[in-house]
Amino acid sequence: MTTAMSTDQIAGTTRVLIIEDDPSIAEAVRRVVAKQNGTGVVASDGRNGLRNFFEERPDLVVLDIGLPEMDGWQVLERIRDLSEVPVLILTARDLEQDKVRGLTAGADDYLTKPFGVQELGARIQALLRRSQTAVSTPAAEPPSVYRDGNLEVDWPAREVRVDGEVVGLTKLEFQLLQTFVRHPGQALATQQLLEQVWNDPFGIGPERVKFTVLRLRRKLGWHDEYKDVLEAIRGYGYRYTPVGDRITPAE
Ligand code: CA
Repeated sequence: MTTAMSTDQIAGTTRVLIIEDDPSIAEAVRRVVAKQNGTGVVASDGRNGLRNFFEERPDLVVLDIGLPEMDGWQVLERIRDLSEVPVLILTARDLEQDKVRGLTAGADDYLTKPFGVQELGARIQALLRRSQTAVSTPAAEPPSVYRDGNLEVDWPAREVRVDGEVVGLTKLEFQLLQTFVRHPGQALATQQLLEQVWNDPFGIGPERVKFTVLRLRRKLGWHDEYKDVLEAIRGYGYRYTPVGDRITPAE
């Protein structure tokens, strides 16, 4: 019997990394993924999870928080340094502060144990759909190379350099930088950034923007004397002021 492609199916090549030390939960998640036609790979501690992440390049990560070796928070931080892969946190704790911490640390969704397999399946599908639309958003490239202070962005090559050194940005970090550079000196609302960069005006919330901005600042060295280059506007959003446009006090 052939199975028609239905709404509860994901692409057959979809790989989901499951980082979970409880074998029965890991197996339950793996079955949910398999039922949807994807492939689930299980890692039972944080360190192996991270290793698997780099080897497997999964399309989605289901991440437990209480893990041996390296906990889920540390794993999430390492993943977010390099990738915008959707991350769904699974945890036994139903604490509001944990939920907030998870989302601010760059998780895309949060599910408390015990959870229903249907709910898990629906969340996985929603995350995959969202990441596919966000990445495929077409963006017209400004021409050639943009230079400001020690920053250099080669648009066609999608390469960012600071003081001549290449800086690795994730797709979203790159798109965020591109959006700022196209609107120099303009205050951009967080909502606007969610729409333009994340293609998600309602889902994930402003904390995602805040933490991506923090990572971008850190990677580009926009702290200390450059901290105002990408400025947070309280209760509104962010403004990029090119280094060349700033008035630097004489030494
Ligand atoms: Ca656990």
